[in-house]
Amino acid sequence: MVVEQRHQNGANCQGDGLWGAHDGLHRCRCAAHQLVWGRKGGVDDAEDAEAIVHEYGHAVQDAQVPGFGSSLEAGSIGEAFGDYLAVTVGLHEAKVNGWPVRTDPTCVADWDSVSYTLAPHCLRTLSENKHYPEDLQGEVHADGEIWSQALWTIRESLGTTVADRIIVNAQFGFAPDTSFAAAANTTVATAQQMYGAGKAKAVRAAFAARGIL
Ligand SMILES: [Zn+2]
Repeated sequence: MVVEQRHQNGANCQGDGLWGAHDGLHRCRCAAHQLVWGRKGGVDDAEDAEAIVHEYGHAVQDAQVPGFGSSLEAGSIGEAFGDYLAVTVGLHEAKVNGWPVRTDPTCVADWDSVSYTLAPHCLRTLSENKHYPEDLQGEVHADGEIWSQALWTIRESLGTTVADRIIVNAQFGFAPDTSFAAAANTTVATAQQMYGAGKAKAVRAAFAARGIL
């Protein structure tokens, strides 16, 4: 994987353009599997480690399930996992390095978003209290907040290491065009297989709280 920052579309990039829905945070499905960060909006996206990890989350999922995200709900899960990974990695790094966490821990990309949001600055959060299906907007980043909050709840219930392992392992079993419900059931089954009924119940409850199961 090549990580770089460019100012305009690379000639070999397809799919997502460099500038788009949210401040140039994009991945390119290129032959070289590149991740590309923009610099629209005042803060270079690659200055925010959570923006970097979010995009890396897309690469993780694409490596696990080639072509992942071909339905609206699968695409939403893609955005949600990127946000979750950004937060869980960011909080881990803050802990081990003694960095201060000055925002709500569920806040995503608080540095990148200083230039285009009002305080508290968050590109998105894992705590919007969105509920399925009535809060669907038909946009992957917005709808992803339903899924990402379920992941955050699993992390709060089971602890970081157990939650992260379940969440990542479950994704190997997702269809490229999965629905929320199918992916949630796979995640519950993965928890059951890895850790037994008690933790599977907690995972089910996290998805049920969002209206997904
Ligand atoms: Zn994304």
